[in-house]
Amino acid sequence: MSFLKIASAHKAYKTPEGGLIHALDDVSLDVRNNEFLTLLGPSGCGKTTLLKCIAGFEDIDSGEISFEEQSLKGVPAHRRPFNTVFQSYALFPHLSIANNVGYGLDVTGVAKGERNKRVEEALELVGLAGFGSREPKQLSGGQQQRVALARSLVLKPRVLLLDEPLSALDRKMRENMQIELKNLQHSVGITFVFVTHDQEEALAMSDRIAVVANGKVQQLAAPTEIYDEPANEFVANFVGTSNIFSGKVVAKDGALLTIETANQRQVLATSDRFGRGDHVELVLRPEHLKLAPSGNGIPESCIDGTVEASVFVGSDLHLHVDVGKGRTAIVHHRHNRGDDGERIEAGTSVKLYYSPNAAHLIKAI
Ligand code: ATP
Repeated sequence: MSFLKIASAHKAYKTPEGGLIHALDDVSLDVRNNEFLTLLGPSGCGKTTLLKCIAGFEDIDSGEISFEEQSLKGVPAHRRPFNTVFQSYALFPHLSIANNVGYGLDVTGVAKGERNKRVEEALELVGLAGFGSREPKQLSGGQQQRVALARSLVLKPRVLLLDEPLSALDRKMRENMQIELKNLQHSVGITFVFVTHDQEEALAMSDRIAVVANGKVQQLAAPTEIYDEPANEFVANFVGTSNIFSGKVVAKDGALLTIETANQRQVLATSDRFGRGDHVELVLRPEHLKLAPSGNGIPESCIDGTVEASVFVGSDLHLHVDVGKGRTAIVHHRHNRGDDGERIEAGTSVKLYYSPNAAHLIKAI
């Protein structure tokens, strides 16, 4: 049985000038029971619209949203077995933490004993046992965000919809909360649909990621697959850093392809999806490009370039290498403690090599 299913959903908004914005453009997505699914995309791509349509705060123009095979058309938000945690979590300032968390239960008339037990359980789940009698202003931003989470969890929704809930927190707090949220999702067994524009957050937390751009799902896959095998150039550039070279397959030997790139001599890649004559984009992650030691023969694929800059970022040295035809390749070079000689002067000629297995190919459009 399918769990939460979005099928061919369309949603357009009218602009004041009389035009149309296609916020959702034929979106289909199957959310699985018990998973942590993230909608990842840049600002304005339609992820909040999708979340609101699932929640029932907005209606889709066409297509269908169903839960356990029942259409949700016409079902108001408060009758859907979902709950939403917003970025601006707005606790009631004059109510205690326990009463903030218990508010939804009070509205639905849950008996007092049961209500208090569930409030305590929810506070314990988010690491705030014993904080029930405090007021919101006595809590830090991160703690208040946890109260907002407890306020939703206490209602035991089948699906929790989270719209950028961590974006107001500082970096350290956000990283801690990412781990906590993921652990929490696994322990409570509630499906989470989480919206973010932060690719690191998405990679760190999700069972699967739906990358969204221009109202369309560009790719839906596990984090490692999104990173290692991006479906198109948008995903390759939006998730992580990519060096992308356009080229044409000129020879094929089993799975080993020889590719003639526009700005380089021939390079190699392995793939069983492409053949001679195909136009491809060769995607190389910065950590897969290595500096070739001078002098020796280089067994693997190799790209010539000139160093433009070397930037020290702590764990790594990032080399910006001009590889011709206006392209710059980014190379991540691991920094060894105390070694200042790793920096390479701008203008130095280098050879970058990579294992053909590390290259990912996508179809050129
Ligand atoms: P952000 O990360 O900035 O919140 P988003 O990916 O969540 O962005 P949406 O809020 O879903 O994007 O918006 C998608 C598109 O629809 C945008 O171009 C936005 O301007 C437009 N839009 C959203 N809500 C409305 C509305 N009520 N009226 C008109 N246009 C809207």
